[in-house]
Amino acid sequence: MPFTPFHMGPGILVKGPQQGGFSLITFGLAQVLIDLEPLYVIATGKDFLGVPGHLHGISHTLLGATLVGFIAGLLGRPLTHLGLRILGQSQFIPVPWRVIWWSAFFGTYSHLALDAVMHRDVEPFAPWSRWNPLVGLVSVGTLHLFCFATAALGTVIYFGLQFRRKVSVGS
Ligand SMILES: [Zn+2]
Repeated sequence: MPFTPFHMGPGILVKGPQQGGFSLITFGLAQVLIDLEPLYVIATGKDFLGVPGHLHGISHTLLGATLVGFIAGLLGRPLTHLGLRILGQSQFIPVPWRVIWWSAFFGTYSHLALDAVMHRDVEPFAPWSRWNPLVGLVSVGTLHLFCFATAALGTVIYFGLQFRRKVSVGS
């Protein structure tokens, strides 16, 4: 499912308590990069390996998600620094690499897991196996509710902690 905001839910939930320990920009970049292949399929009718009509190809496997995670990490760090500068938060630069890698790989693997539940054509263990153990684990409605709830909860925790910090600094 190309570029759906629903994938941001688990990242926002982690961002809430972790604050500067998680890069939501890198996480978001991972969501966009991993869905370039489905977008390519929609445009050309074939996946990256040339399989016609296979929406979730190599990018939506453990192998592909690992590769995309590396790319998201490498590109995510300068993008995160740019974002922090724009937001006037330059005191957090440089963001440690461990924060970037955690955000990038949590991004691609959580994306893969969510898509594997929702889409029958996701094959996490390809090219070794076509088995998708997660498909249909919960209904699509439940999955969307989960993504919405994690996003909402993460937002409340994030701003709650920010507010508490401001109060404790002010007192
Ligand atoms: Zn996807």
